[in-house]
Amino acid sequence: MANPTVLLIFGTRPEAIKLFPVVQALQRRGGMRVRTCVTAQHRGLLDQVLEIAGISPDIDLDLMQPGQTLDQLTARLLTGLGTVLDAERPDRVIVQGDTATAMVGALTAYYRKTPVGHVEAGLRSGDIHHPWPEEVNRRMIAPIADLHFAPTQTAAAALHRENIDPASVHVTGNTVIDALLATRDRIAAEPELAVGLDSLANRFAGKRIILVTTHRRENFGGGMEAIARAIARIADREDVALIFPVHPNPNVVSVMDAMLGDRANIARIDPLDYPHFIRALDMAHIVLTDSGGVQEEAPALGKPVLVMRETTERPEGVAAGTARLVGTDESRIVSEISTLLDDNSAYSAMARAHNPFGDGHAAQRIAEIVAHGFGL
Ligand code: UDP
Repeated sequence: MANPTVLLIFGTRPEAIKLFPVVQALQRRGGMRVRTCVTAQHRGLLDQVLEIAGISPDIDLDLMQPGQTLDQLTARLLTGLGTVLDAERPDRVIVQGDTATAMVGALTAYYRKTPVGHVEAGLRSGDIHHPWPEEVNRRMIAPIADLHFAPTQTAAAALHRENIDPASVHVTGNTVIDALLATRDRIAAEPELAVGLDSLANRFAGKRIILVTTHRRENFGGGMEAIARAIARIADREDVALIFPVHPNPNVVSVMDAMLGDRANIARIDPLDYPHFIRALDMAHIVLTDSGGVQEEAPALGKPVLVMRETTERPEGVAAGTARLVGTDESRIVSEISTLLDDNSAYSAMARAHNPFGDGHAAQRIAEIVAHGFGL
């Protein structure tokens, strides 16, 4: 009998970062035909990760179009992925997280009665508008999947509360920690992978670096403007420098271009490829973000992370004391940053390395469970 086929479907940068360790672990495990399909919901950011991870997708739907609505994206994903599944006829589909690609990937598999494994299952903020539309995307995958790879006990408990069969829920850790640790090791062995930040490190020598990322849809508009005002006020201090890889979404770029202008101690730069971003995290004194993945990476590196959101589906970083929710209120962001800059004990209390999200072996556990499901 032919080896069973596992098809991994993904479309954005964070999905690629969190799935490349799974692709590699499945290939190492053997006995399965491992196929990858990218929707390219985010084209450029996805390609940066594929290149570094050495993945050439078997199928590339190239679905990104500038300014497409969620309706248009979802409709194109449905027909595109449906056609792929009919051609590939996989024995299992694997999706990750909470994007439109993940939700529609699971739905098209369900329409064909193909079993679905969900990596990073069980994250819940409890508010369908924060993060939007991710909270509903991930909730919709839960009743479809028959293998739920929960990163933490908290995530597993959320699935249990939704009456998901406990036998189908596996606490594996988050594959983001696998990606982070493997990439740190690679940078140590091949420093040329992240040399692009040397000039910024020199330019900002002696200053404390604040690494900023923002891209959440629900922060577009007023939230983004408040974030820009806060960044400008923080940059009034001479003892700090901000490294800000700006997400290419026009809702982010246009606000930051208009409101931040040219300032000596703000480096507004293009999105960094993954090794360079890990190096930037290493250089940072404080991280200011509304990202999901960065909330997981910063605690692992012992970097205080201020989260510009009202709620989080990643309470483990907050419980560990490394992450704090600060919302998108300009004054709150400025005062929280100032406290960390001016009060050493407040800083030390947050700057402790914790790994509540995983031990770096999540992908291997996932590969084992998938193989076991095929009787391998
Ligand atoms: N990241 C990156 N380059 C950047 C900014 C972020 O490689 O310039 C990585 C980061 O390390 C994390 C992931 O992208 O693993 C987070 O992606 P994003 O914030 O876009 O999405 P989210 O995690 O909020 O879904």
